[in-house]
Amino acid sequence: MSVVIVGSVAFDSIETPDRQVEKALGGSAVYASLAASYQSSVRLVGVVGEDFTQEYIDIIDRKNIDITGLEIVDGGKTFFWKGRYGSDPNERETLVTDLNVFENFQPVLPEEWKKSKWVFLANIDPGLQLDLLGQCENDPFVGCDTMNFWIEGKPKVLAKVLERVNVLFINDSEARQLSGETGLIMAAREILKMGPEIVVVKKGEHGAFLLTEDFLFITPAYPLENFLDPTGAGDTFAGGFFGCLAAAGDVKTKNLRRAMIYGTVLASFACENFSVENIRDLSLDTIKERFNRMVDFIRVDKEEI
Ligand code: AMP
Repeated sequence: MSVVIVGSVAFDSIETPDRQVEKALGGSAVYASLAASYQSSVRLVGVVGEDFTQEYIDIIDRKNIDITGLEIVDGGKTFFWKGRYGSDPNERETLVTDLNVFENFQPVLPEEWKKSKWVFLANIDPGLQLDLLGQCENDPFVGCDTMNFWIEGKPKVLAKVLERVNVLFINDSEARQLSGETGLIMAAREILKMGPEIVVVKKGEHGAFLLTEDFLFITPAYPLENFLDPTGAGDTFAGGFFGCLAAAGDVKTKNLRRAMIYGTVLASFACENFSVENIRDLSLDTIKERFNRMVDFIRVDKEEI
């Protein structure tokens, strides 16, 4: 199954209490595409500037990721994001967001991609998400991720996007911000009223839950011994989840449960190194092994009555 993914392709500079990196490969679409590519083939839509390096293109341009939809703007500058983490990795401060080539970007869906059945709108300007949706011809199943930057900056357009979304991925503080509710289940219920039929709330090291009108699934995060940098974990989770669901081909609860654990496992790899270092070359066996260990961590028999 092919998944269209639109989102940011970025240079990221990151500060953690012990280390920092400058202009590493990042962006919501990059993390999501790499994560999804282990289960589905990916059709990437995005934009970079002339300053984007061939080394980074080579990381994205792989067997399961078609980059026909990645525009390179002559003389343009690539999206740049800088963030800082303190001792609590769940709390991040954005220091710089330079949209650069994204400011004038108009995504163009290649003709043969317009009939794609699975579309993931990774975190990016909701106006671009809406624009891309307008080019889809086959009533796709739509996943979407967003963040505080857009909830504050473009609430009206975001509301329009949400009306057309099947599954929304959002982190805990942003779920509260979007819904105005403090309790997370109540927040997710409010968000269900905005359009999505499935809401996945990501809670960083505290795991994630998925809510529909009549189904709830919760998972802890994978317990990491060597946590380094959470940047991109949310995008990796969403890409892994979406690729897994697209490969399954439907949204039966069995597949939703599996996608939640799959996303959790992929996100854990992302946190073990900076940038995409630990998710760019995973083997399926490595993923499966951690998936099975995760299932063992949380499995319990039901009480017999
Ligand atoms: P996450 O840690 O999952 O929230 O994702 C971090 C990634 O999102 C980084 O690689 C950034 O380049 C990218 N990012 C940060 N801010 C934005 C934004 N406003 N729009 C799109 N992508 C962003």
